[in-house]
Amino acid sequence: MNILVLNCGSSSLKFQIIETDLDLIEKDTETQKAKGLIERIGSQSLITLQADGKPSIKQAAPLRDHRAALDYVVRWIISAEAQIPGIRSLADIHAIGHRVVHGAEKFTKSVIIDEEVIKGIEDTIELAPLHNPANLKGIYAARELMGPGVPQVAVFDTSFHSTMPETSYLYAIPYQLYRRHKIRKYGFHGTSHRYAAYRYRKIAGKGREETNVITLHLGNGCSACAIKRGESFDTSMGLTPLEGLVMGTRGGDIDPSVLEFLAHKEGMSISEIDTVLNKQSGLLGLSGLTNDMRDLLEEEHEHQDRRAKLAIDIFCQRVKKYIGAYLAEMNGADAIIFTGGIGENSKTIRQRICTGLEWLGVEIDEKRNNELQHGKEGEISKAGSKVKLYVIPTNEELLIARDTVRSVKDAPRRW
Ligand code: AMP
Repeated sequence: MNILVLNCGSSSLKFQIIETDLDLIEKDTETQKAKGLIERIGSQSLITLQADGKPSIKQAAPLRDHRAALDYVVRWIISAEAQIPGIRSLADIHAIGHRVVHGAEKFTKSVIIDEEVIKGIEDTIELAPLHNPANLKGIYAARELMGPGVPQVAVFDTSFHSTMPETSYLYAIPYQLYRRHKIRKYGFHGTSHRYAAYRYRKIAGKGREETNVITLHLGNGCSACAIKRGESFDTSMGLTPLEGLVMGTRGGDIDPSVLEFLAHKEGMSISEIDTVLNKQSGLLGLSGLTNDMRDLLEEEHEHQDRRAKLAIDIFCQRVKKYIGAYLAEMNGADAIIFTGGIGENSKTIRQRICTGLEWLGVEIDEKRNNELQHGKEGEISKAGSKVKLYVIPTNEELLIARDTVRSVKDAPRRW
């Protein structure tokens, strides 16, 4: 089956075409046939398209909304120019898998989209006002363009974390606030944490029940997950993606009293404070330079920039703190896994996070860490390290395609 995987942001649309079915999943031999990205939807959009094995094409066009963007993508996919093997017309796209950010307590696994599911995602907008409306735009557009005959599946960022116990997900605020408004930790990046755990299981030859690991998704958004017996036991993001680690522009954990203090001292409204915490904090806020880790490392190295160093040090220290907390919560773990743009690509950050954790049984091998090629999976711990260390490039799109196939075929999802 050719699955179109869609990930819609407020002004962007990312897609992949992945060929997969139950047999290919079993053999782990799926193929990615094409991928692309449309940015700046709503004005002069930037379009990047790439069929597998061919050079990427860059174009610009005025695309008014997500429907126009998807229409552009679909026309290209079936065009003679793209020449995607096995795809000649719309009928060759067999199903669509959507990344949906927030599934609240309602969606604990991936589901085929029908009217009731759409209503459920709409009801969740207040928990994810930036993300879910964009995801819904992708769903509406796909339904309109592809018609009701092509099944669509929603894969939620939150659902992997639905196994967390109450002791992990409840905040210590009056219980009736949870009962009334479902204020609790939901966690995000679930598909990425799930993929890292799945690949670890394959590499280490472990069963699901034996999978006790900490996964670190370190990208522009960052989160840690404690995975116990193959299931999410705790995670650093909360009601929204703001809680937890230091991220590109989000500050992560903070004393909630800072909000009132800021309102009082700076005369800021709640929504202005929300903007500060979500868009102007984290690496950007601390350094005053950028949210981009690569640039910060360069500033620190080339110009000995004090604030760049400070931002990186705080970033790494917060990750260490979560590793310690999760090792305690789980009574140890077999491995720590790095993924996401920073986790996959920065040997320096991996080294800085792991240095000083030797007492906990975490020993990074400098040579293995330095020599691991970009984009490759591999072990980076010393031979005798009690806690193993791995780098596993994430592949959320593959799991979305797999969940789509399984939902359409009604087959059980094991990961
Ligand atoms: P993501 O959101 O997963 O795409 O990750 C984006 C982040 O990864 C940005 O902060 C990038 O600077 C960072 N990143 C990508 N490559 C590298 C690298 N080689 N070294 C350090 N950071 C990197």
